[in-house]
Amino acid sequence: MADDFLANYPNAENFIPGIYNYCDRWCERCPFTDRCMNYAREKRRWGDNPPRDLQDPEFWDAFNEVMEETLALLANITEELGIDPDDVDEEALAEDEQRFGEAWQHPLMQAATDYGKMVDQWFEDAEGDFLDKEETLNMLARVNAPGIDPEAEARALIDAVEVIRWYQFFIAAKVHRALMGLDDPDDGFPKDGDGSAKIALIATERSMAAWERLLYAFPAREMEALRILAHLQRLRDQTDALFPNARAFVRPGFDELP
Ligand code: SF4
Repeated sequence: MADDFLANYPNAENFIPGIYNYCDRWCERCPFTDRCMNYAREKRRWGDNPPRDLQDPEFWDAFNEVMEETLALLANITEELGIDPDDVDEEALAEDEQRFGEAWQHPLMQAATDYGKMVDQWFEDAEGDFLDKEETLNMLARVNAPGIDPEAEARALIDAVEVIRWYQFFIAAKVHRALMGLDDPDDGFPKDGDGSAKIALIATERSMAAWERLLYAFPAREMEALRILAHLQRLRDQTDALFPNARAFVRPGFDELP
């Protein structure tokens, strides 16, 4: 499929189709970078230092190139499938728009977006606690106290913060996509809504584990952290209830043998 496009990638035969649809987009931590077309595209276009500054003309040059490549790929696929892109199904578009709006209004989506705000608030309130913790860990490192590994504790804390921050808004994005597919008919094929719900569940549970680490590291912030954990737990349980088949969804690459 789309041979012209894939000719740009010498390792294209190793790509796992659609692997990027149900991943967590955390490429730095992904074991499948060499099997992901999305990753290969970004590397080919932007190298190791993608421009991120919206004021930088290089950013927009790269952006335009990616858009052109995407449109070329789409043209190849629609041609192969015999689809006329100008033949717009207005009714289907209107339905999509309606589902998009309804997903935003869903209580699960509300809970997911509330979580993002709770995280910001917690970190804002805990700014001083992090500075105190840094001072304590530095002091412990200096005195070289036996049986205490301040560096390991610092690494664990940094990891917990990175996990929480990475998934802070990701969960809502995936919950929204899952809700868009909530009423898709059961046609015997895996449902996108279940796949999206599954990665939302994974992100939620990883975030819960990270919050548990912060809970013990910052006893002064325990109550707020517990409230957030309880909120995530409800979010997880409600996602499981709405998408009972999500956990059985097989994500390309991640849930199957390579
Ligand atoms: S599959 Fe891995 S490499 Fe590809 S976009 Fe997702 S996280 Fe990044």
